[in-house]
Amino acid sequence: MGPILRGLIKLQRVESRLRAVQNKLARCRRSVLFQENQLRTLQSNLEAKQQETKLTKLQVDRLELELKSRDENITKLRAALNLARTNKEYSAILTELNTSKADDSKLESQVLELMKNVESDQAQCGEVQKQIEEQKTRMEQIRTDAEGKAAELQKEIDAIQKEWDLFAHKITPEALNIFKRVAETYDGEAMAQIERPEDENIVSFSCGGCFMGLPAEMVNILSNKDEILRCSNCTRILYLKDEEE
Ligand SMILES: [Zn+2]
Repeated sequence: MGPILRGLIKLQRVESRLRAVQNKLARCRRSVLFQENQLRTLQSNLEAKQQETKLTKLQVDRLELELKSRDENITKLRAALNLARTNKEYSAILTELNTSKADDSKLESQVLELMKNVESDQAQCGEVQKQIEEQKTRMEQIRTDAEGKAAELQKEIDAIQKEWDLFAHKITPEALNIFKRVAETYDGEAMAQIERPEDENIVSFSCGGCFMGLPAEMVNILSNKDEILRCSNCTRILYLKDEEE
């Protein structure tokens, strides 16, 4: 194996370490985002409940106003009852009075029902409010932890990045471009070792990245030349296991 492939393999090792720590950092950031989303959900639940309570209260106000005007009407009917001059007039007013009273008590129970709803809504608002406070505390704790951890991971990334730059510097721009492109496609895995069969009698080789069969000719070329050959299926850069290592 020559300097081109050896250089790429070294870069591959650093690239894998770099990606692993970058993934850790991304997970760390996501844990905070997740907590923030939880808080937002609770807050929008609270707003919805508060809006619902407000509407129910408005309905109660409206019904109470109606009750008041009906009560006034009942007072008037009672006075009229005392002033009735004939039996017929009396019984007509009495019927109206009884109907009004019945309607009144229906309205009253409706108001009571709604007020009960308001009470339970308010209790639920209080419960959600408590959950919000708890979530805020939890979130702050997780945020503080994550920030500390993220700073450490970032330091680690910076150190590995320096190593990466050092190795990348020894590789031709052309080879580096190919490496980066393939690494982008396979989450950092740009190189694939050619797999040899366990049984010496069987002559078949395959790409260690995608496991597609490879022509023996490729193996011959790589055995003699330091060249970038790529798997025709997955495009990874192929290399042979270095027996010296
Ligand atoms: Zn492949």
